[in-house]
Amino acid sequence: EPKTIHADVLVLGGGPGGYTAAFRAADLGRQVVLVERYPTLGGVCLNVGCIPSKALLHVAQIIHEAREAGEFGLRFGAPEIDLDQIRGFKDKVVKTLTGGLETLARQRKVTVVQGTGRFTGEHGMQVETTDGPVTVGFDHAIIAAGSRAVKIPDFPHDDPRLMDSTDALALQEVPKRLLIVGGGIIGLEMATVYHALGAGITVVELMDQLIPGCDADLVRPLHQHIKKQYENIYLKTRVSRIEPEAAGLKVFFEGEGAPESDLFDRVLVAVGRAPNGALIGAENAGVHVDAKGFIPVDEHQRTNVPHIYAIGDIVGNPMLAHKATHEAKVAAEVIAGKPSAFQALTIPSVAYTDPEVAWMGVTEAQAKAQGIEYEKAVFPWAASGRALGIGRKEGATKLLCDKTTKRVIGAGIVGPHAGELIAEAVLAMEMGADAEDIGLTVHAHPTLSETFAFAAEMIEGTITDLY
Ligand code: FAD
Repeated sequence: EPKTIHADVLVLGGGPGGYTAAFRAADLGRQVVLVERYPTLGGVCLNVGCIPSKALLHVAQIIHEAREAGEFGLRFGAPEIDLDQIRGFKDKVVKTLTGGLETLARQRKVTVVQGTGRFTGEHGMQVETTDGPVTVGFDHAIIAAGSRAVKIPDFPHDDPRLMDSTDALALQEVPKRLLIVGGGIIGLEMATVYHALGAGITVVELMDQLIPGCDADLVRPLHQHIKKQYENIYLKTRVSRIEPEAAGLKVFFEGEGAPESDLFDRVLVAVGRAPNGALIGAENAGVHVDAKGFIPVDEHQRTNVPHIYAIGDIVGNPMLAHKATHEAKVAAEVIAGKPSAFQALTIPSVAYTDPEVAWMGVTEAQAKAQGIEYEKAVFPWAASGRALGIGRKEGATKLLCDKTTKRVIGAGIVGPHAGELIAEAVLAMEMGADAEDIGLTVHAHPTLSETFAFAAEMIEGTITDLY
């Protein structure tokens, strides 16, 4: 006889979308059941995504800066790398955060059921737990079941030397030669980590630039910077085949500039993520899932079934944690009868590489393709006193404004801390700021944030002094 419980709001998935929705719904007085198959809350982001990657990138940054300090007349010896301790640091960060979520769930009396859930009907879900099946009846449901790494058919995915991002974050060893398949954000972040730890890096990307989707002029300084450090970066190249051999993985390439084949100690496949829509029995609840596995929703996060909502990676791109959490609040609030809607003007993207690349709003390539009339300013960090003072003149701050109104429609930044700096551009766009508003806003000197105001002044034609 399966155990049966009831929920005002059932949340499927304990990632940033799911836990945020569960907590908000509980704060609004709803009785919430949160179903998560793994023993810890936090989903991909906290356990095997945003958080562990950033902890490792911090370690990489220290190594990198110590190496580059030579140009300031400061020489350190080669780093002594204690892989167990680095892994321990990363795991502790993750554990602190996921443990915090447990406390927050308990404080709100959110019932967490650990097991794999599947819809059985419009108001029912069965959860397979270690103690047997649990049936959850619900008035409302929020689907936050996330996404998984895409696997390439015919690659030897059973070979432990062929890794996905989760394997790479586990940091089992530092291979002598690592191939990263996919020059997107996740691939390049892991390249940054493994390079700092001593691996020889090759990156292979199908498109004609790294981080496809970001403007080429913003990616160029990153490409130039890492080109000097990595063994190879192959663009417009695909991996056609991987053959496991005793000495390593033999990888076959098709594309310009790449050899026919090469041998690597490990290969990381980072070619994108697929939504989990097709894996949760959505059809039993009548919830529409598209051919790719995404669940379409309206601006209230409602699926085609009015009392069932969906949020996060499973509803579409961009697959980012901060999109998931904002959608989560909307879903919980709509269920509580509030007039909430997801109406973000833009969702920023950040590559936490070295240098970082961040962008928001329309890219210049999109503006051109859509025939948007824009004005552009690119402020070179070579003219920023602060950037020179940290030895990083390769950066740039780019601003796109509507040609007529001069309101901000897009921005991109490449350079250290770009991920922090982009927040100002997002706020400017959300507040409907124009170039004059930004130029008249007093920015502290000397800061990297000034470069955003300088770009605005370039659009206004009021820039007088640099440095
Ligand atoms: P998820 O985090 O995927 O959570 C879904 C949860 O649902 C999982 O815990 C899963 O176990 C559970 N689940 C699924 N199906 C079931 C089921 N049937 N029963 C029970 N439980 C189920 N985003 C950023 O914004 N910034 C970053 O820096 C960043 N870095 C990343 C680095 C890496 C290496 C990766 C892989 C991703 C990164 N992301 C980053 C993306 C980010 O992790 C996701 O956008 C985010 O986790 C999506 O949240 P979510 O709640 O939609 O889903």
